[in-house]
Amino acid sequence: MKTKKNINRRKSDRIYVGKIPVGNNAPISIQSMTNTRTTNILETINQIIQLQKVGADIVRVSIPTLKDAESFKIIKKQVSVPLVADIHFDYRLALKAIEYGADCLRINPGNIGNKKRVSEIINYAKNKNIPIRIGVNSGSLEKDILKKHKTPTPEALVESALRNIEFFDTLNFNQFKVSVKSSDVFLAIEAYKILAKKITQPLHIGITEAGGLRSGTVKSSIGISSLLTLGIGDTLRVSLAADPIEEVKVGYDILKALCLRSRGINFIACPTCSRQEFDVINTVNVLEKKLEDISTPIDVSIIGCIVNGIGEAKTATLGLTGNHKYSAFYENGIRQKNKLKNEEIIEQMENKIRKKAKELDQLNYYKK
Ligand code: SF4
Repeated sequence: MKTKKNINRRKSDRIYVGKIPVGNNAPISIQSMTNTRTTNILETINQIIQLQKVGADIVRVSIPTLKDAESFKIIKKQVSVPLVADIHFDYRLALKAIEYGADCLRINPGNIGNKKRVSEIINYAKNKNIPIRIGVNSGSLEKDILKKHKTPTPEALVESALRNIEFFDTLNFNQFKVSVKSSDVFLAIEAYKILAKKITQPLHIGITEAGGLRSGTVKSSIGISSLLTLGIGDTLRVSLAADPIEEVKVGYDILKALCLRSRGINFIACPTCSRQEFDVINTVNVLEKKLEDISTPIDVSIIGCIVNGIGEAKTATLGLTGNHKYSAFYENGIRQKNKLKNEEIIEQMENKIRKKAKELDQLNYYKK
């Protein structure tokens, strides 16, 4: 088994987005956002279902117009994962989203307009018992705050968040979480660090507009994991200019790497070199794709030769160590008598991993 590092998570209040707990030591939830037109109801439902299949705990849907709000009403009835309605500028859309069953709202109070409108949203959310995310973003700070700080700074982001939090407090509304995002990794980290000391509400973390699949994954991993290792972060979104399914997968990979949450297969694979006895890269890529449906956490090492293969196999649940024509197979760290023929490695490993997942599921079922 892999070594677990103890990360002391920041103490925070608990809110619920639908049935998903956020904060106060709840598992760190993973969010993503649909990128279909919300008015394209079928496509949006389909994308939400796909996101849920790969493990999204919460899905955000944007509602830019009244037509989108009407579509949201239909979509909400067809899916089971909690939905956050993303609202900007028009408070009436927020009211509609609440009426149509949103499990949470994401608003940037700074662009909703006067306080009367924001308070109407808050009071209705309170009435329906749904939380709100105060989403501060370095790209859309209030004009006066930007003027004071000259440029988006960590202090400017925190000032904007605190201003909104104070207003929420005057209405006795505490069911909210906060984000202070920026596309600048250091700016975002610093803002979250300052805010984490000032409030007790849960924090939604992420690096906004991080970039494409590769560059955005790197930026997000640096930013999000820097915060998580400090114990900061109760729910997260990886923002990528890519298929949102990838956002969820990267989110899990970050949590898996930090041993904060596990889901599905955790592949340990070597980068390969001329010593490899079978095609490691292809094996891992094909297995990753084939086994996406498995949510049971299993550590699987796929290593091309005995240099590092034995050591990794001994600490994984299932392990494969490349050897001439036939590779060694390990289960729970113990080398098994039967070797796997290199030519049939993918099929055989798929069967073994599926069998193990079933066994572990049954074990957990009887434990319950
Ligand atoms: Fe090369 Fe073996 Fe190391 Fe893999 S484990 S990179 S095959 S030496």
